[in-house]
Amino acid sequence: MVKSLTPKLNLTPSLTPLIAHHDLNALRQTVRDFKATGQTLGFVPTMGALHEGHLELVRHAKSLCDKVVVSIFVNPKQFAPTEDLALYPRTQTADLEALMRVGCDLVYLPSPDHIYPQGFATKIDMAGPALGLESDFRPHFFAGVATVVTKLFMQVTPDVAIFGHKDYQQLKVVETLVLDLDMGIKIVGHPTRREPDGLAMSSRNAYLSQKERALAPKLYETLNALKADLINGLPVDQAIDKAWATLIAAGFGPIDYLSLRDSDTLGPVDTNTDNRRLLAALWLGSTRLIDNIEA
Ligand code: AMP
Repeated sequence: MVKSLTPKLNLTPSLTPLIAHHDLNALRQTVRDFKATGQTLGFVPTMGALHEGHLELVRHAKSLCDKVVVSIFVNPKQFAPTEDLALYPRTQTADLEALMRVGCDLVYLPSPDHIYPQGFATKIDMAGPALGLESDFRPHFFAGVATVVTKLFMQVTPDVAIFGHKDYQQLKVVETLVLDLDMGIKIVGHPTRREPDGLAMSSRNAYLSQKERALAPKLYETLNALKADLINGLPVDQAIDKAWATLIAAGFGPIDYLSLRDSDTLGPVDTNTDNRRLLAALWLGSTRLIDNIEA
């Protein structure tokens, strides 16, 4: 059990020592130490409540870089006042143990006051891939993400940062952000890790009742059936209407969006589009699920 956050945690001898910092100066010093010996730095930003999907990103970062930093920060700026900030699952002890198991080198646990001190006045407002889809339903969301990701990148100064396909629009937003602001950080996307029944792993799956959890994999199943309909030549509008009706009949709803987009720009598809992505967000009871697949 992790009892307190001492600078260096190694509670089971066989596990990797995990450095934990709340403080920016301490983080910067450790990062300087890593870099002084020429080591490359991978970074995985998270909001905690870690599951295998997050841990795969850490393992992937380990395979690409000498040292890996994970941040755990539930970012208030990406939650609207009506959303689940207060309820968002927080499982710090289990998170730290899991990070040790996968060989994370440093966990950064800033407090909201440190990230957004009194007088904080900056907001990164993006167009391009940030428009539409999530933004139509969560208009505050990508400014919150872009602002905190920029701040964390300035603090951690990684060579590489890993983001999950699970939040596909977020991945495209971060790629654009890094390019637009010449941040010089390589952004790597990693496939969605799923439960054996196909449900995309998510910290918010903990909100689902037993009955809802049994229904939830139907989202991935329906996305795949929709993809098959498209491959078989059903016109896009008809295929989407059919999948929409399937989801509503199964007990999901409301559906925020179910859309076929260009995988790179997230704009509308046309006959010249090489890579396509199906993206969906919908409600199951009081839980909002998102998922996407290549199409
Ligand atoms: P979050 O803690 O939800 O902000 O997610 C942190 C990172 O983990 C983001 O890059 C997510 O896209 C990624 N992630 C979340 N769930 C999964 C999953 N099931 N598979 C792969 N990556 C994921």
